[in-house]
Amino acid sequence: KEVFIVSKLAIFGGPKAVQSDPKDIFTWPIITKEDEDAALEVLRRGGMSATDVTIKFEEEFADWQGTKYALAFNNGTASLQAAMYGCGVGVGDEIICPSVTYWASAIQVFSLGGTVVFAEVDPDTLCLDPKDIEHRISDRTKAIMVVHYLGHPADMDPIMEIAKKHNLKVIEDVSHAQGGLYKGRKLGTIGDVAAMSLMSGKSLAIGEGGMLVTDDREIYERAVVLGHYEKFNDSFETEYLKPYTGLPMGGYKYRMHQISSAVGRVQLKYYDERCEEIRKAMNYFWDLLEGVPGLKAHR
Ligand SMILES: *Cc1c(COP(=O)(O)O)cnc(C)c1O
Repeated sequence: KEVFIVSKLAIFGGPKAVQSDPKDIFTWPIITKEDEDAALEVLRRGGMSATDVTIKFEEEFADWQGTKYALAFNNGTASLQAAMYGCGVGVGDEIICPSVTYWASAIQVFSLGGTVVFAEVDPDTLCLDPKDIEHRISDRTKAIMVVHYLGHPADMDPIMEIAKKHNLKVIEDVSHAQGGLYKGRKLGTIGDVAAMSLMSGKSLAIGEGGMLVTDDREIYERAVVLGHYEKFNDSFETEYLKPYTGLPMGGYKYRMHQISSAVGRVQLKYYDERCEEIRKAMNYFWDLLEGVPGLKAHR
């Protein structure tokens, strides 16, 4: 009788094979006293709407990302809309977007007067299928939106080639894949511009927030004028924007809450080492499942 009960599967009412308490290993992000102190520092001096901490976060982020510019937003949706606007997407324009993604890789284009053309995804990577892009390009197409879905990099080389051939911009949505690599290159540095969510459910989770990164000065400045009037100053280099200095050209206000940027600075500091540990654990997990029929590692 005793033996029978022990060998009964937990799903049929038997004892659980794993009895140990996993504690908080599944709690993300990891919040320590350092995050709490950073948030309290902003709160206690009333710096929530200022930009001093955010500017530091942007500098550190650009450094970590390996791009010239980083621009912080109140959420990922806004940062992706600014990336579209940065690429010159406007009335009557089309962007090509993968048909599997969260809606905020695409729908903001309507608020710019453009529209979305959906392309197929690769069934193995769930990312935009480079073979399904070219026949969707029209004379209205302005940009290709690439999403590195669930942390898996999209196949960037052929996508960049197609974009170059047709004179299109490439936007990377890195919301699922901060710090991921494609052939040794950091995701977010391959297209013309990248933008991403940093909300609590993402890999790099700081609370509500988004980040746009680029090496392109004009894209950066267009992203500023869409939603950051306080940064639209005499330092601008794009000639056609200069006459409007200081004006809220997009009619939006997209600056990051400084509790987010304060927590973001702490999270970024530990991000690589925490990811390394998770990567090690995930690879161990997939290594053990190697050869199990019907399962294929997603790594
Ligand atoms: C979460 C997410 C967004 C939107 O970001 P928010 O910060 O929630 O506005 C955009 N694209 C993808 C792929 C996402 O997962």
